Amino acid sequence: MLGKGPGNLNRLLVDESVRRRLHPVSNVRQKALELIANQNHILDRIDFKKTQLKDLFGIHVFNEVAQRERLPKPVFKALQKTIKHGDPLPSDIADVVATAMKDWAIEGGATHYTHLFQPLTGLTAEKHDSFVSPTSDGRAIVEFSGKELVQGEPDASSFPSGGLRSTFEARGYTAWDPTSPAFLLENPNGATLVIPTVFLSWTGETLDKKAPLLRSMEALSKQALRVLRLFGNKSAKRVITTVGPEQEYFLIDRNFHLLRPDLINAGRSLFGASPPKGQELEDQYFGAIPERVLAYMADCEAQLYKLGVPVKTRHNEVAPSQYEIAPVFEDSNLATDHNMLLMEVLRSTATKYGLACYFHEKPFAGINGSGKHNNFSMGTDTGENLLNPGDNPHDNAQFLVFCVAVIRAVAKYPELLRVTVASAHNDHRLGANEAPPAIISIFLGDMLQDIMEQLEKGPATSTIQGGTMEVGVSVLPKFPKDAGDRNRTSPFAFTGNKFEFRAVGGSQSIAEPNTVLNTIVAESLDFVATTLEAAVAGGRDLNKAIQDLLSAILKDSKKVLFNGDGYSEDWHKEAEKRGLPNHRNTIDSLPVIIRKDTVDLFAKYKVYNAKELESRFNILCESYVKTIQVEAKLTGFMGKNQILPAAIRYQGQLADSVNATKAAGVEPAGSLDLLKTLASTIGEFTKALHHLEHELGHQAEGSLHHHAKHCREKLLVAMNAVRVLGDKLETLIADDLWPLPTYREMLFIK
Ligand code: ADP
Ligand code: MG
Repeated sequence: MLGKGPGNLNRLLVDESVRRRLHPVSNVRQKALELIANQNHILDRIDFKKTQLKDLFGIHVFNEVAQRERLPKPVFKALQKTIKHGDPLPSDIADVVATAMKDWAIEGGATHYTHLFQPLTGLTAEKHDSFVSPTSDGRAIVEFSGKELVQGEPDASSFPSGGLRSTFEARGYTAWDPTSPAFLLENPNGATLVIPTVFLSWTGETLDKKAPLLRSMEALSKQALRVLRLFGNKSAKRVITTVGPEQEYFLIDRNFHLLRPDLINAGRSLFGASPPKGQELEDQYFGAIPERVLAYMADCEAQLYKLGVPVKTRHNEVAPSQYEIAPVFEDSNLATDHNMLLMEVLRSTATKYGLACYFHEKPFAGINGSGKHNNFSMGTDTGENLLNPGDNPHDNAQFLVFCVAVIRAVAKYPELLRVTVASAHNDHRLGANEAPPAIISIFLGDMLQDIMEQLEKGPATSTIQGGTMEVGVSVLPKFPKDAGDRNRTSPFAFTGNKFEFRAVGGSQSIAEPNTVLNTIVAESLDFVATTLEAAVAGGRDLNKAIQDLLSAILKDSKKVLFNGDGYSEDWHKEAEKRGLPNHRNTIDSLPVIIRKDTVDLFAKYKVYNAKELESRFNILCESYVKTIQVEAKLTGFMGKNQILPAAIRYQGQLADSVNATKAAGVEPAGSLDLLKTLASTIGEFTKALHHLEHELGHQAEGSLHHHAKHCREKLLVAMNAVRVLGDKLETLIADDLWPLPTYREMLFIK
């Protein structure tokens, strides 16, 4: 194509620079792909042929077996009474327990102990102390006293308190929770004895998520026992709320992770055009698990088994590179601690396998996010599941009372449930067209729904599958484990013998959802018990009284029952007609926390006092603001320092090529069009970045909530505008210049 004359040299030089730019010496993405293609991970770290999974269970837990083995009988008995019946711990046994625990721990390689607690950051916190103390004669001894077991004083000044403490009086203390067993956490050089604790301020206010949860379990137990006594149950000493959280997560190759500042710092991708293939083929759900992921899962399971976390199921989830792990249910407190531990094990083990693990509620736009289905029930200490419909009429009446109590609670306090799952992260999931909607409703399934409709109308006589419906004398049709259809669009679904709260976010602690669930159900059971006790005392027949009461409750509460498609537009309209609240985002859902009726409710059951609620409200506002600000800054950085330079480089190449083509006497129609589109998109992108910077610089006046509102209305909108244009640039720019691993690569290269 080259002609003759002095212009040729110039053109040759231009061509050479174009060539160099078209074939950059190093492209980080290509390097990452090369690394992934050539990597050789050790996948056989665990050998279940040699060590059976069952033999690993609980070996790192100071559980009942270890306690019985190592404690004097009276001490063992006293400790068990505390653990099983919630009796206060006698003060003189702490030293004995501490010594036994220390010996057990040191035999297992422990050098340090830590009081593990769950500050309001939503994470866990730990500070390690050595068992070793120097002596005056220059040696060292090993010691661990009862006092050190029972109480600790971490420097708490940097944990959020939402105004409960000022930094100058930052003292907080941790107190041993004997109902959650201590365990050994291994590290490459030994182990740490981990002691689960609650975290309180010196004035007694709770600074963590565990203390309110324990209080709510107490409240529910007390009220549920009253109801059970009405049914003649004299043997149950406690009612325990049980939870089985199904945990969803994503696994992405770590080489991609390291190239994404957004994934590293925000846990979600702030840019990324939709891939040619998403989840539409539905070929991932329950599909074969990739070998590396399977090896990783086995490793996690082995660790979790040693820690006594009863993980049970694993499978591929709907979105590409998304998985789920679910345990067997435990009491709410243990289930919460174990879920935190599970997330930690999943996160830290990923690195060993060259993976990065995300629990974020929406790490990738356009495909499903991650939730945590919170399966909830109540059971007696004698092992009876109170939400199990059972087979005989007596069971049925009792089941119906407990079930209707839950329905009443959800119908009466939907905003309280909603706010327990509110976060900047979960906003991307709730109300989007996949996860449960932000409207709290209950799915019962056809059979139970029908029964409730009959109950509402009074002593029904109609026949359902062979049994007449009258409380206490009828035969409730036997429920299949999954009564009726699986409804995946409902935020709160009855699934055979438990309710499943599905709006909970993948990254959050399940402590708060369960604290609220326990409290509102306790309030309902209190109402039920009070009404029935009065009726019986007044000489009424219990079953007749139950019939009337359930019918009255259902008349009020049936608005929350919905069996249809929770994603549909129709439901949104219908829900509005029924007067169900629909808080689409965190900002709208937060104010209920400090409303008077909320304060009264939690005060009545001694779960949170007014100050504690206010502190939580403040912390939630603050954390919303911080999350959005970090995301906005990251968006600005990636936009300005990664995407824009790539776009400008490509613009330069195109311009060179257009000029060269023109000089060669050819009309560069295609590249000229592309250049124009690119140049104008770069223009818009730059403008959007300016606007984002402007909003970031703007400080909102007034309350924290006001500030949070500004973040949602201004900052988030500005961020999204940048993203839309950034994603458009991704589709315009030469692939070899694009600096960020793409959705196509991250989600599909395993
Ligand atoms: P799914 O079909 O939703 O996977 P599963 O029966 O496998 O249902 O249970 C899902 C979760 O529910 C598991 O973690 C399981 O332990 C838990 N679960 C089962 N029974 C109860 C119960 N009584 N209380 C709380 N959680 C329960
Ligand atoms: Mg489920």
